Amino acid sequence: MGFQKSLVEMISMNGRKVMITGGAGGIGLATAKRFAEAGAEIYLVDLDRRRLTRARKSIQEEFNVDVETFKADLSEKKEIDALWKDIEGSEPDVLINNAGIYVFKDFLEIDEQFLKRVMKVNFESVFWMCQNFIKSRLKKGGVIINVGSIEAIMPFAFGLVHYDAGKTSVLALTRALARDFSKKGFRINAVIPGGIETSGVKKLKKETVMSLDVDMMKLGMEFKSRLPMRRFGDPDEVARVMIFLASDLASYMTGALIPVDGGFLSA
Ligand code: NAD
Repeated sequence: MGFQKSLVEMISMNGRKVMITGGAGGIGLATAKRFAEAGAEIYLVDLDRRRLTRARKSIQEEFNVDVETFKADLSEKKEIDALWKDIEGSEPDVLINNAGIYVFKDFLEIDEQFLKRVMKVNFESVFWMCQNFIKSRLKKGGVIINVGSIEAIMPFAFGLVHYDAGKTSVLALTRALARDFSKKGFRINAVIPGGIETSGVKKLKKETVMSLDVDMMKLGMEFKSRLPMRRFGDPDEVARVMIFLASDLASYMTGALIPVDGGFLSA
């Protein structure tokens, strides 16, 4: 064939360990399942212990791979540091920083406590997770995938100023780290999802209908009518891009910001 490695060999995650934050549901869990299918050992980190246990069971039953779960509030740096201490000696080869919260709030009503919480979960956690990962693998290199949002590039919804600022910081962090560490064997990229129908998004939609929030309903309709694909995405459609980015198929990609958004940012 002439290739050094076949496509199957390149996509395989056999012998690799993958840590996914926010892995108990949504995009995180969908991603964990694809990595499990590809043979990786999975580390799931999440705030929600019950959902973590459920996620571990479903992955193990379906794919017969090792799944470790870690309950941690990633907004607390000391919990992040404790997590890395816990896994010392068996650090992951791939880190996916996916955990995030999207709480709508009018800019004029935001107080210090609220902003601190959002920035800690959505940005600072990614910062400290990346620092721990890179420190632990300085001689080996590795792959980081951060999860941004279309909102960071094209603020569309109202009441997400705090979220947009945090996610823009995640994208800046991604590019700056790629600048500094790609020569040391790290590949650091970001996916930019938009309109993915996760349990989190479904809950938001339900709350909108239940509270008869007309502005939010209008926003949902405007969002969909702007979408070139005219449909919401499935979490697995993000998961498939994650596994491509983590695999050797993407060996010359670093510092890239990849939209997975049904074309939203293009239209
Ligand atoms: P989700 O709400 O379905 O899942 C997020 C997971 O993160 C949950 O399991 C939650 O328990 C966990 N989490 C939240 N705070 C945490 C904390 N402090 N410590 C540890 N775990 C925590 O979300 P999702 O829709 O799957 O989104 C995943 C990521 O993708 C988020 O960063 C989100 O901002 C981003 N994103 C999603 C969409 C979308 O359309 N769904 C669009 C753009 C960006």
